[in-house]
Amino acid sequence: MTVDPALLAALTRGRRAVDESMAFWAQQNGRWDEEPMTVILCQNAAPHVKPITFNKRQEGVIGADWLWWWVDPSGTCFGMLVQAKNLERRKGSWSVDFEHANKSGPQLDLLLRAADLFQVAPAYVLYCGDTNYRTGLSCGFRHTEPICDRCTRAGVSILSALAVQYFLLLSQDSAAVDAFAHAVPLEDLADPKVRQRPLWDDPNFSNVPELRSFLVERQHGAFQVAKLLFTQVSKLRRAQMLMAAPRRFDVGSGKVFPHLPADRGHFSRSYYGNILRGLRTELPSYVRDAEAGRVLPSELAGRIAGIAIFYL
Ligand SMILES: [Zn+2]
Repeated sequence: MTVDPALLAALTRGRRAVDESMAFWAQQNGRWDEEPMTVILCQNAAPHVKPITFNKRQEGVIGADWLWWWVDPSGTCFGMLVQAKNLERRKGSWSVDFEHANKSGPQLDLLLRAADLFQVAPAYVLYCGDTNYRTGLSCGFRHTEPICDRCTRAGVSILSALAVQYFLLLSQDSAAVDAFAHAVPLEDLADPKVRQRPLWDDPNFSNVPELRSFLVERQHGAFQVAKLLFTQVSKLRRAQMLMAAPRRFDVGSGKVFPHLPADRGHFSRSYYGNILRGLRTELPSYVRDAEAGRVLPSELAGRIAGIAIFYL
């Protein structure tokens, strides 16, 4: 499949605009608000990203989460429920407010439950400031000084919410640094040249033959987006040293992979299901309605701040 490079260029433009805004507000105020950053991102990536916002939010249901749908020209698509968070520098250490709670409960639990409802992958978009703001923070073992290619693109990064839940279980103190190291720069999701590691040693693929090529071979388009997010949890799972459960479960109709391994490892849910249920053979009807400007039922539109469609 050939991928149109226009989305990658648009996401780079969007990320640079967000970097600039974060740098401005960090200097003015020492901080920035995360919600306007999503707006700046979409505005600068249009028309390759189409944002559709809703104004009748049911207070406290989920918060300001967006549904992001990545769609190939073939119609194959990948859905995420995305919550925005800032990487904050506090007295020389790093934090992200992952454990925020409102009257309905911890926000992370609500995000995971809402993603179950929408049958998409729960994720964070991390607004990490520009490289100057991140002085002293490393993106992990591939980090290079004085200039790191990955860190240059990391101002807007994406991370699986299931991975975040696991980082919090390991250590609340290092969760922000772990999150930054495991997150993928947003524009990498649409970059056909991005590094993709084969997940050949995954303990589970052998009992689901149709998954094998997805895990082993290079992916493009919506499959690439799903794979880069799945790689985050797959890497963590392999380090868990726990036998994989052989059971599979039915994910439901309309999905690219209708049956997925039920294995949870030390995660709270099947990590296959949590991410790969987002891969669908075509956009759900509510996304097509939103795209065409039709009004969505309030029980749906009231739960999210908006829908963004990324045209791969
Ligand atoms: Zn780096």
